[in-house]
Parts: sequence; C-alpha cells; structure tokens
Amino acid sequence: MTDANADTTHTPRWGMTVDVNRCVGCQTCTVACKHWNDTQPGVQWRKVLDVESGSFPDVERVFLVVGCQHCAEPPCVPVCPTGATKQRADGLVTMDYDTCIGCASCAVACPYQARTIAHKHTWYYGEETVQEDAVRHKEREGVAQKCTFCADKLDDGLAQGKVPGVDWEYTPSCAAACIASAITFGDFNDPDSNVSELTANNSYFQMHAELGTDPQIKYLYETPAVPGRDPDAGDLDDERLADPANPLVGERQKFWDWRAAMNWCFGGLASGFAVVGALNYLFVEHDVQEIAAANFAAAGLMAIGLFFVWLKIGRKFRAWRAIFRPQTSWMTRELYAAAVFFPAVLIGIVFASTAAHLVAALAALAFLVCQAKILHMAKGIPAWRAPLVPAMIFSSGLYEGVGLTAFLLFFFGAAHVDEGVALARSLAVAGLVLAVLNAALWVRYRQTAKARGIPPLARQAIDGIAVPLHIAGHAVPFILFAVALLTTTGPSVHLLVGGLTAVIGGFFWKYAMVVRAGYQQGFALGKMPRRGSGAKAAPARLQGFARAAAAE
Ligand code: SF4
Repeated sequence: MTDANADTTHTPRWGMTVDVNRCVGCQTCTVACKHWNDTQPGVQWRKVLDVESGSFPDVERVFLVVGCQHCAEPPCVPVCPTGATKQRADGLVTMDYDTCIGCASCAVACPYQARTIAHKHTWYYGEETVQEDAVRHKEREGVAQKCTFCADKLDDGLAQGKVPGVDWEYTPSCAAACIASAITFGDFNDPDSNVSELTANNSYFQMHAELGTDPQIKYLYETPAVPGRDPDAGDLDDERLADPANPLVGERQKFWDWRAAMNWCFGGLASGFAVVGALNYLFVEHDVQEIAAANFAAAGLMAIGLFFVWLKIGRKFRAWRAIFRPQTSWMTRELYAAAVFFPAVLIGIVFASTAAHLVAALAALAFLVCQAKILHMAKGIPAWRAPLVPAMIFSSGLYEGVGLTAFLLFFFGAAHVDEGVALARSLAVAGLVLAVLNAALWVRYRQTAKARGIPPLARQAIDGIAVPLHIAGHAVPFILFAVALLTTTGPSVHLLVGGLTAVIGGFFWKYAMVVRAGYQQGFALGKMPRRGSGAKAAPARLQGFARAAAAE
C-alpha cells in the first residue's frame, strides 16, 4: 500500500468491498453501525439481507450487505433543493441535518433504499430511558438520514495521519466489526490499497450498475472453490420479484403520500388552466377580464397543491431553504416558477396588465415542466423514472386545463355569443387531440413498462388503473368532445361533462402513480456465489457427492 496520506495531492475515493462468500449473516455490522451512530429503533443505516432461492433440495442462501453505496454519480445529490446532501471530494455523500427540510426528494431518488426519514423519535422499550435520551439525535428527526461511512471516524483518523481501512479505530464500524472480514474499507484511488487489490484480483459486481450511479460498494462473489453464477431465470421471474417476502423486492415508497400527490394533481391542473386561459386570450376572446379570472383561479389551485406538499415536509418551517439549488433541483426551479407566477397574477389583476398575465401563463408552463421533471428524477422509483413520464405529466396538465375551461364555460359562458362558439369549438378540438395523446402515452407506457425495468408489483398497480382510466379519463371525454364539436353552438353539457371527466381522469392516474405504483427499485444480486445444495452446490461439493455415491 502506498502512503497516500503523505501525498498531499492525492484525493482518495473511499469505498468498500463486500465479499458475499465470506458474509455469514451474523448482523454484527448492523449492530456495530447502530452502536456507533446511535440510530433509533427502526432505523438501520447498515442492513444484511437474508436471500433464499430455489426449492428443496436445490436451494441456496446468501447474505447481502446493503446501505448507502456512496455512489460516484449519486442521484440523491442533484435533486436536493437545499444543498443538504452533498458529495465530498473524497466521494463521501454527506447529509447536513440542519439544512435538510425532509422533503424526501433524495429518498425517492436513491435506487438502494438507503435513506430513512424518522418523523418521530421512538424508544426501544416503548418509553424514554436515560441512556437512550443521552444519545438522542434531535437534529435527525424529520429529515433524511443514511450511512455516512462513519465520516467522523475517517476525518478524525486522517487528521492524525491514520489510514482508514488499515487503522481499525478510524475505519467505518461495520467494516471494523465484521467477524468474517467480509467488509473491507479503503481508497479506490490508491492502486495499492486493500480494496483496489481485492477488486483487481477478484470478480465483482456493482449493484444496479445499469443505472449509471457507479456505486462504491463492490461485491466480490467467487473464490476458486466457489465459482459465481448469473442469477437464473427462477431468481428473476415475475413471480419471485412480486413476492413481498423476497428481501430483494422493493417496497412501496411511503415518503411521498397523498399530500405529495395533491401537488401533481392541483399543480398540473392549475398550470394547464393558466396556459389555456392565455391561449384563449391570444386567439379567441382577447379579454383581459377573462385571463385575469383564469389566472386568479389557477393561482388558488396552485396554492392548494403547494399547501398539501408543504404539509408533507418533515421540517415545515425550514421550507424556505428549498430555494438554494436552482443549478440542479427541479423542486427549487418549481418554486422559482411559482415565485414568478403568483406576483405576476397579482400585478396583472391590480394593474389590468395583459403582459403580466401572459408572463404568469409562461411561469405556469414552466411550473408544469418542473413537476414533470421532479417525478422523472426520482431514480429510485422505476415507475416514475420511465422516459415517458414527463410527457405524460405535461400532456395531462394541458388536458386537465382544457377540461376545467370546458367545464367552467358552461356556467360562465363568454362575453359574446360568437366568441363562446369559437371557444367551445376550440376546446372540443383540443380535448379530442389531448384525449388521444394521453391515451396513446398511457398505452405506450404500459407496453414498455417491463422493458424499462418497472417491477411486477408496480406493473400490477399500473395495470389495475388502466381500464378505468381509459374509459372514464379518455374514451368518455373523447366521445363527449366529439359530440360537442359536431353539435355545439356554444357552451354545452357535453363540454361540461367531458371537461369534468378529463380532470377527474388526470387526478386519478397521478394519485395512483404517486401513491400506489411507487414501488422502490429493490435490491439485486447481479452475480451470486454458487454454494447452495443439490443442483445449486459448488462444483467441489458436487464432485464430493459424486465420489460418495460411487463409493456406496
Ligand atoms: Fe447513497 Fe442512495 Fe445517494 Fe447512492 S443514491 S449515494 S446509495 S443515498
């Protein structure tokens, strides 16, 4: 090992190797992590999964150490709207608990289920003990937390000229405590380090390498006596990956619940409504009163959506900190769009300014784009990160905007009869086009779901809403908009009902997508050791069985 510490120009890249063959599933690392980091009941930064596969007598059992992978390309960092999650030069992905607002953007962006948000403190024996209170971390409550690779130990050791991974006191607790030397910690940027030598001389895999995160836990999986194998079809079929008892299967996320979903529902509707209001002003009615009324209503709807999402934030009175990451966070950008939208609407109403109203409509359009991107950037949720999702959110917002305008036209009409007819026809045509577009996007999304890696449980949730959505959200509005186009001489009941069902359909699928189809990525054994029994036994064992059988 080179003395990388003595080289002041050397930047380490801290990481781990985990030898799947050596791990015996004793959970010593889990306990050592809890002990060092004082995590509360139910919060585990280090976990060891107990994975069984096959059926008797051809069975296999392996233990998989998981936790924050300190990805070289961490998807949790750019989505953070406050800058609380950062990546250090040495590769560690860190948390600033005092800055985090608990919005959970990082938690849904992480494909390794590494982050937890504990909104309340709990005690191991149901009630507070003096010992637990002494190590309570109030700063972690209501915000995101995760493994730090024991950065405090590392920094302490480095300040003293120690070598983390070699000097055990200054090595992450899990690695230091592992009874089987399955976890090794070190510097991947030092070619002579322990971890570099292990990865140079052994085959390894990185979990979900296909996502481009370049995780810095590298799993060793074979020895000369125990060769590795690819997962077989039985490990990866839908039945096994839909079994909640399989620890590799991702759970349905609980970070963003119905309150978060309401931001997409009301925010999308508000944005679409403001955009349609501006188009109505530009191409049909040319009436500043109309665009003012539309923007006023849109502002109310957008405020409702933002209020719901604010209710979901863990540290509500720090929410203002979400303005600090416009470089990369679509949540920050969404707030900027809202910060332009609301004052522009106010100025437009107070000064009867058409220009301000049009600026507001552009800000609403930007808000809709941000909403589409926020969901898409949640890399830990396959149903959300699928490539078609931004287009689906965007076109649904416009469809809902057309729907709400069609609905309100019935009650409020237009200033002049001929404008009412023109507006009704325009809305019917737009509704027809958008009903077809939204239906087509949904069909394509479902067709490509499996190929895009959306897991079976999420696909079941998506399939479960497809028929009612296509009927109530696409077919019924399509028919009613078509009838309205063929028969209408102005606002009609067809437009009213067609518009209402378009809005309800949009709310329905966005709620279902966020709350019901939001299954996490799940874990993966890209390769595994061949060390089970029966047909899954290592060749050395199989030869032993054969010799024993021949001797009988
Ligand atoms: Fe850790 Fe997950 Fe962020 Fe990767 S994406 S650095 S595993 S929290």
